[in-house]
This record gives sequence, structure tokens and C-alpha cells, in this order.
Amino acid sequence: MELHYQPKVLLDSGAVAGSEALLRWHHPTLGTVAPARFIPVAEESGLIGHLGLWVLGEACRTAVELNAGDRPFHKVAVNLSAREFQSRQLVDSVRGILRETGCRPQWLEFEITERLLLDRDESALDTLTDLRDLGITIAIDDFGTGYSALNYLAQFPIDTLKIDQSFVQGTDRRQKELVKAILSIARCLGQAVVAEGVETADQAAFLSAHGCDAAQGYFYGKPMPKHELLLWLH
Ligand code: C2E
Ligand code: CA
Ligand code: CA
Repeated sequence: MELHYQPKVLLDSGAVAGSEALLRWHHPTLGTVAPARFIPVAEESGLIGHLGLWVLGEACRTAVELNAGDRPFHKVAVNLSAREFQSRQLVDSVRGILRETGCRPQWLEFEITERLLLDRDESALDTLTDLRDLGITIAIDDFGTGYSALNYLAQFPIDTLKIDQSFVQGTDRRQKELVKAILSIARCLGQAVVAEGVETADQAAFLSAHGCDAAQGYFYGKPMPKHELLLWLH
């Protein structure tokens, strides 16, 4: 297992805001297995608990390295699956890993999908509030593709919306209007917006013209191992 990191770039200045940690599995005979294939299996089998903690530890160590010395601020985002988010030990584990690695909570963001908030149970709100109290920010991943119940945006403390790549890459006029509408919702609620899957200069220009804060995608950089990210940043 290895973590790759994909940079997130601020659209107004071109500065790097941070990166998203994406898990890779280099299997001895199957080759590289995509996370979309093995994360669901890890979830079903219960192994996601261990795996997720390892990911978090690695991501925190990387965040410490990327923020060392006089390097510019760099936030590392970690994906949390349903099982991880629902774990009762999550907040304690996070606190422990931050302490062990020396990672500051401001250097960490969690990406969760809107589906996790739909149950609207008390524990989801408690978990999010506890993580936010630690100083960690929360992003909604794949925004607009789940069972969007916009109501949750008012109920839960959320810092960032990530516009799904299906909207970003859409060429249909109505998809573009939806991107503008999402940007407008986020602006009204004081949330930042990151566009995912930006592959062309035209897509970046459209997003920038309509006030999107940051972008991520092959146009800027693919997910890469840490040593490559360090070179890329340089
Ligand atoms: P995601 O969080 O939505 O991650 C974005 C996916 O889009 C990544 O796929 C990334 O490689 C891909 N991508 C980035 N830029 C572009 C682009 O410009 N064009 C296109 N076509 N694709 C782009 P990846 O790495 O295969 O990850 C798939 C999913 O697996 C992730 O979706 C995330 O939900 C999950 N995942 C990955 N790592 C972890 C992890 O450590 N923990 C958990 N729980 N889930 C993870
Ligand atoms: Ca993500
Ligand atoms: Ca996503």
C-alpha cells in the first residue's frame, strides 16, 4: 500500500493550497489495484479500520514534512469511508495520531460524502463537531451526486464543497448552470469550493470566472508519490 498525493491549486493565484491523499495498492500478481475495487472490500471485511488508521498516520507524517521550516502552508486531505466515519473511536484515534505525528489539526482535512450525513443521526453531528473543535476542516466529496438533501448543509458544520468531476467536465449548458448554482450556494453559506477532475484550461477558466476557489485534476497534476509531489512543489 502506498499513498499518492494530488495537488489542489488556488484558481486566483495559482498557489498550491494542499493535496488529497489517495490510496494505491501494488499487488504482486494483480498489479496496481484501484481503490474503487479494494476500498469496498476493506469496508465489508472490517479491515478498513486498520487501513484507515494507517492512511491517516501516513498523511499526517506527510503534512508535517510538507509544512516544515519556511515552506508555505499545505493542507492534506484524507478520504473517510462510511465505516470509518461511523466508528466510535474515530475522534480519539485522530487525536492520538495528531499527537504521535506532531501534525497540526489545521494541516488536515477530511473528505466525506453527503450520503454519510443523510441518516441525520446525532452521532454524525457529534463526530463532525468534535473534529471541527480539534481544528480539522471538513469537505463534502462528490457534491451533488449523492442523495442530495440540501438541508444537511444548514445542519452540519462543513467548510468545503468539492464539485464532482461529472459537473466539471460536463459540456452541456445545463451542467454548467449547475456548477454556477453550486458556487452560488457555497458563497451564500460561506463555504469554499474545490472543483475535481479539471482536465483542460477551458474548464479552469470557466471555474475561475465564476468564483471557484480551488481546482484539482490532471490539468494541474495526477496523484503522485510523495517524493514526486516534493519535486512538483519545488
Ligand atoms: P475521490 O475521493 O472522488 O477521488 C478522486 C478520484 O478522481 C481519484 O481516483 C483520482 O485519481 C481521480 N482523478 C483526479 N483527477 C482527475 C482528472 O482530472 N480526471 C479523471 N478522470 N480522474 C481524476 P482514485 O485515486 O482511483 O480514487 C477513487 C476513490 O477511492 C476516491 O474517490 C475515494 O473515494 C476512494 N479512496 C481513495 N483513497 C482512499 C482512502 O485512503 N480512504 C478511503 N476511505 N477512500 C479512498
Ligand atoms: Ca476525495
Ligand atoms: Ca470526489
